[in-house]
Amino acid sequence: MSDVFDTLVGQPDAAAALRHHARRPVHAYLLSGPAGADLASAALALAAAMQCEEHGCGRCDRCRRVLDGRDPDVTLVARSGIAWRIEELREAERVGRRRPLGAGRQVVVLEDIERALDAATPATPALLKTLEEPPSRTVFILTAHDLPPELETIVSRCVEVRLRALRPDEVAAALVADGASREEARAAAEAAGGDLRRARVLRRDPDVGARLEIWREAPRELNGTPAAAARVAERWHASLDEALAPLVALQAEELARREAAAREVGGRLTGRREIEEAHRREQRRYRVEEIRAGLQTLARVYRDRLREALDDERGADRARAALAALDAISEAGERITTSMNESLLLYDLALALRSP
Ligand SMILES: [Zn+2]
Repeated sequence: MSDVFDTLVGQPDAAAALRHHARRPVHAYLLSGPAGADLASAALALAAAMQCEEHGCGRCDRCRRVLDGRDPDVTLVARSGIAWRIEELREAERVGRRRPLGAGRQVVVLEDIERALDAATPATPALLKTLEEPPSRTVFILTAHDLPPELETIVSRCVEVRLRALRPDEVAAALVADGASREEARAAAEAAGGDLRRARVLRRDPDVGARLEIWREAPRELNGTPAAAARVAERWHASLDEALAPLVALQAEELARREAAAREVGGRLTGRREIEEAHRREQRRYRVEEIRAGLQTLARVYRDRLREALDDERGADRARAALAALDAISEAGERITTSMNESLLLYDLALALRSP
């Protein structure tokens, strides 16, 4: 028998746990898993299964409404910045206090809850308050890719369901099942690092190799001058805009499919604004992933340089420079999750990397 959890590729254990909980929900769940684990789809599937009379058949009207993001009793609380703001968490609490309109639960979804831990905002207590004694028909679903110790009290109030990272061969197999050729599937899976959604986008992206080349070539040009740094940062920036094009195309196709499905049953697609907002969020996340892939490429260049320098008895200066570059790359990687200013981040990085 198929159900909404069948879409969770390579997650039989998590799917079994979620199937069980969909029938007897507690008041808060934490879906966790390494980068690339598709926590958003798991959260949506769990929400659908809690509303559906058949616990997530995937075919009924209720299931479809939840999966399309237009069920009035399932709210994905929007986050405007990179970190959660207190007002947004209060909004989550407010929605959680509402009685559901239909049969089923009032489901409130908060994604990437680890982003509540911005040092400047005391958002963690606000989140705890949100999870305190919700009404009996309310369920919170939180997701987090990593769980710093500060989140311990939050974790302790939730039932945690862990998802695993997919291996590249599993991602490739899923793409072949989608209709990709083996070579296409292998290349996209390698570049996506276990992230199936990203692999699905990369599969239709012929320029991914050329974009990584831009990152790989950058160290040759960087000489510590602001002019060179600005040129390289500008090129990185332009490549991010290009990277988004296949994702935007995929989202447009998905929207068209939903519109066609709505027409088939004689209606109009409702919740278009929510869908578009979700698409914008996904685009922001995708840009961050793209920068991460670029940083990994850069780091490989400097690790190679470090190895060569260490093999050379007169290579001490070059080894030091490569180590400094690796530090700058890792600092940029940390900044991505907190900094809104992408241009500045790229420029600072380019300036910090100088060729020895
Ligand atoms: Zn259903």
